Amino acid sequence: MCGIIGIIGSENVSEELFIGMLNLQHRGQDAAGILTFKENFYIKKGLGLVERIFDKKNLEELPGEIGIGHNRYPTAGSAFSDTQPFFLTYPYGVGMAHNGNIINYLSLKNYLKEKKRRITYTDNDLEIMLNLFCDKLTTSRFSEEVIFKAVKEVFKKAKGGYSVIGVVGGKGLFAFKDPRGIRPLIMGEKIKDGKRSYAFASEDVVFNSLEYKVVRDLKAGEVVFIDKNLKIHSEVLTNSKEKPCMFEWVYLARPESVINGISVYKARLSLGKKLAKKLRGIKADLIIPVPDTSRTAALSLSEELGIPYREGLIKNRYIDRTFIMSSAQERENAVRLKLNVVYSEISGKDIIVVDDSIVRGTTSKNIIRLLKSSGARNVYFIATCPPLKYPCYYGIDFPSSSELIAFRKNEDEIKKEIRTDLLFYQDLKSLFAVLGKNICKACLDGSYPTDIKDAKIFEKERLRDRKCAKRIEYAKI
Ligand code: AMP
Repeated sequence: MCGIIGIIGSENVSEELFIGMLNLQHRGQDAAGILTFKENFYIKKGLGLVERIFDKKNLEELPGEIGIGHNRYPTAGSAFSDTQPFFLTYPYGVGMAHNGNIINYLSLKNYLKEKKRRITYTDNDLEIMLNLFCDKLTTSRFSEEVIFKAVKEVFKKAKGGYSVIGVVGGKGLFAFKDPRGIRPLIMGEKIKDGKRSYAFASEDVVFNSLEYKVVRDLKAGEVVFIDKNLKIHSEVLTNSKEKPCMFEWVYLARPESVINGISVYKARLSLGKKLAKKLRGIKADLIIPVPDTSRTAALSLSEELGIPYREGLIKNRYIDRTFIMSSAQERENAVRLKLNVVYSEISGKDIIVVDDSIVRGTTSKNIIRLLKSSGARNVYFIATCPPLKYPCYYGIDFPSSSELIAFRKNEDEIKKEIRTDLLFYQDLKSLFAVLGKNICKACLDGSYPTDIKDAKIFEKERLRDRKCAKRIEYAKI
């Protein structure tokens, strides 16, 4: 679930990338990097939050009118060497950043070594993508067709869900979405003081603060190349149906964003409304959201049911993930560090708690325990997303079914395990009503929109990766 951004034509590229990445911080807090090009590559990367990595001085050391940036949420590879963007010096010099996963990256690693004599040195699937791309980037007579051909090769070989932004040194900026359009990617344009610039980003939320206007979302399987004269070339290289990830609207994206024409905020409002139908007749004193993502749905649910909305759980914004990560023991108690109860609102009440999703069940279990120990009489737990039963191979950190509580248990058993008095999930039909039927819902019903032949190896690698990194997998608590 990383964040990516690319800009061409601006005199303040590094500063604009920095601001854009601050606005994409929710998509990854683990590491970040900026790459710009002016005769040569300039690059600055670091671990942690964008604000801590970049300052006025190091941004000034990133010259040029073209560049890309990346916020990392690690799903494959979490070492410093995996920090994006990556670049290769030949041909032309190509820099790249991506959001998503390539399922068959290990077999492609082998293919590159055996058939192309290209060695890759990280665990990161972007390095595979970059090498596949560069391998097809012929050097005779450069044109947009050369880029399109290279992306075609990526589509042919790389199975998964990915959005990519890249720089070809001295030539221009390109962006593409995988053949099913699983991860979001949007294009913007700015004309300021007569100067035109273009941007691509994971979410349009970055365009507001940078004063870009939305041009459009890229289509599934589409590549857009903006050359050094700011001429736009684009082509849709595949004809498979778009399957955008439903979890973007449910959880990942910022509420202000609009993805493929569907407002995230409106979608969350509708998800809350849909749940109201299921909950009608339930007597409760108040509805509280688990901050922050589920606020919107909790609001509309409250309006529909006529049950007051209260902020019964308050999040401490200043507790860093790394602090929580430090000991496995603290994970169980992490909710106490990150969330506080407003006792006056909770004590003696029957409470409907709304969260966007139940993954392992850790958050819900801890919140219910916290609310009950704070005096709540009954706690009813609501998830705005249907049960998550299958792993995501496209960039969200649910690598294995065995970790997913809804894979191992039915709703009754989940109810017992998380100790809620009532449990309600969104149903698939309602999700379709809100987002349409053309969504990737592989994590809900196992219907994967791509080839998943290498999925088992991918799963194993990611679990191993995660163990090495000793990090907490879900950062909400
Ligand atoms: P769990 O505690 O494993 O059941 O995770 C569910 C909680 O984590 C919910 O509060 C979600 O908002 C949040 N969540 C879901 N997916 C992710 C993710 N990929 N990264 C971080 N938090 C997540």
